[in-house]
Amino acid sequence: MSYKVLIVEDEITLQETLAYNLTRQGYETLTTGNGRTALKLARENRPDLILLDVMLPGIDGFEVCRILRKDLSAPVLMLTARAEEIDKIVGLEMGADDYLTKPFSMRELLARVKALLRRVEIIREELTAEQGDDDQLRRSQTAVLAFGNLAIDDGRREVRLDDRPLRLKPKEFNLLQFLARHHGIALSRDLILERVWGWSYDGNSRTVDVHVRWLREKIEPDPSQATRIITVRSVGYRFDG
Ligand code: CA
Repeated sequence: MSYKVLIVEDEITLQETLAYNLTRQGYETLTTGNGRTALKLARENRPDLILLDVMLPGIDGFEVCRILRKDLSAPVLMLTARAEEIDKIVGLEMGADDYLTKPFSMRELLARVKALLRRVEIIREELTAEQGDDDQLRRSQTAVLAFGNLAIDDGRREVRLDDRPLRLKPKEFNLLQFLARHHGIALSRDLILERVWGWSYDGNSRTVDVHVRWLREKIEPDPSQATRIITVRSVGYRFDG
């Protein structure tokens, strides 16, 4: 299935470069250089991801983001030219999911786009699973995920290493289960925090790091050279099995 990306950028050369590269990657693109048109396009087309420049004529990117957030859940990647804008994006919690500072490389942009769309995919899969029929749900709840000498038994909420049960704290189990269910995919600390600790949890991404360290001590042959729970630089973690 192809993802729809809305590109909001008033520098025409950059807008065209973005559209060209995203189309080449197989994404469907919509473009505009105007904040008001962006709102209209977003409502009519329900994009899966929005690239949003901060400095726009008319309504700026901050305002567009704030308005969009009221009825759209698609991730927003802000494109910014100045450091003080970054402070505003991070500090005001206007709902942007990520940002890139201009000038950026197309490679970096495509990597961020891919990471954000993976999040969309994971959340959709989970919603589908939650809405799926009871049988399917029961099967997924009683599944045993096996990775070499490591087995994660969802039904019994038990983890075995070399067939011996491990003592895990409830959150350690939930974290390992979440990572294992999405093995091979780099997951951001924020996403892990949201899905394992819940939306209302008041902690920060350090919580994730600490639990990963505890888990590594229990499941890695050598916790200082992790081969199961891999650190993915500037993203988070990936479970490699
Ligand atoms: Ca601009």
